[in-house]
Amino acid sequence: MPIRSMDELPLQGNKVFVRVDFNVPLKNGVIQDDTRIRAALPTLRRILEVGGAVVLASHLGRPKGGPDPAFSLAPVAERLGELLGFSVFQAPEVVGPKAAELANALEPGEVLLLENVRFEPGETKNDPDLGGRLAALADLYVNDAFGAAHRAHASTAGMAAYFRPDHKAAGYLLLRELEALRRVLESPEKPFAAVLGGAKVSDKIAVVENLLGKADRLLVGGGMAFTFLAAQGVEIGDSLLEADRIDVARETLGKARACGSEILLPLDHVIAREPAEGAEVRTTEGTAIPKGWKGLDIGPRTRDAFANALADARTVVWNGPMGVFEVPAFAEGTFAVARAVAAAPGFTVVGGGDSVSAVKKSGVADRIGHVSTGGGASLEFLEGKVLPGIAALE
Ligand code: ADP
Ligand code: MG
Repeated sequence: MPIRSMDELPLQGNKVFVRVDFNVPLKNGVIQDDTRIRAALPTLRRILEVGGAVVLASHLGRPKGGPDPAFSLAPVAERLGELLGFSVFQAPEVVGPKAAELANALEPGEVLLLENVRFEPGETKNDPDLGGRLAALADLYVNDAFGAAHRAHASTAGMAAYFRPDHKAAGYLLLRELEALRRVLESPEKPFAAVLGGAKVSDKIAVVENLLGKADRLLVGGGMAFTFLAAQGVEIGDSLLEADRIDVARETLGKARACGSEILLPLDHVIAREPAEGAEVRTTEGTAIPKGWKGLDIGPRTRDAFANALADARTVVWNGPMGVFEVPAFAEGTFAVARAVAAAPGFTVVGGGDSVSAVKKSGVADRIGHVSTGGGASLEFLEGKVLPGIAALE
């Protein structure tokens, strides 16, 4: 079912509950990166500009089922006020008499930020009672928290049931994410190449399976590649191996052949005994890795092969680094892939927390079609799963 845009809601003169993802990194109460707050501004500005009022909600960190000042959204309220150019009201609770009173008194053009929704134990349990109490604070519901859309929580999913279908919709950020990810999965221009990496096969196998038959080429690197190589009988030394997934990897390689998706595995590796800076580093000749050594990055021949496979791609999706890119000695393969994705002629999407940070580090983020703001959510979307936050709006 198509999802409504907030533009279709009667925003003027109404109170709009907006669930955002303000789960920003905090250190001693200081915001380290306000990207997530900035990402919500277009949605908020639009509602305020047409004469709506905003009741804002977000989670922050993982408080243990009750109020905890260390996880208060107070620093976020302050930063948001700076960005909007006027101060926002702050509720001392999520739901309750004080929150209700503040929400009631809200005038068009004003913003009220509720406390961290995870201060309510019912939030992560998707408690219908909490959903109802949250819904009672506003007339309309807008979900703009893509980063939390894979969670069936009270504020991301449950509360939507209390609004009429034409009174709930997606915010601009959620819409942009959906459009980019749907374009890749539902109507990819060909050739379609997917680059998959990261540490574990078990984390990514569902994405590989969902892309079989859709993507023309699947480029597999990172730690997960070694289970695939092991499935082909290649010596992988002490590299990351999920022995219980070797059969699944072998089956996947077979399915890929049957459905016309080509899986490209590393041809060579950068290896060391430990993934530490200053360790002795070697590059292998071929796919095999000697005992006592670990594959920690894709080698130069693999980088060229992957760049070649991306050079004419009309659609690219990338999730998962090609090596232990946190350590400079093993980062070059990931950066080379980042450059190749950026140079691809087609529409490109990068998802995954570490992949996005790698793309930013490599300096090519502004040449990527869409950099997803939701790690877990984009992964589940690529797995073909229905995200509860999105289903709740349909
Ligand atoms: P994302 O957050 O983009 O989805 P993942 O969390 O799945 O990515 O994977 C990122 C992690 O994978 C990084 O911490 C990286 O160090 C690790 N990694 C990549 N390649 C290897 C490898 N060859 N051996 C061990 N760990 C690896
Ligand atoms: Mg990660």
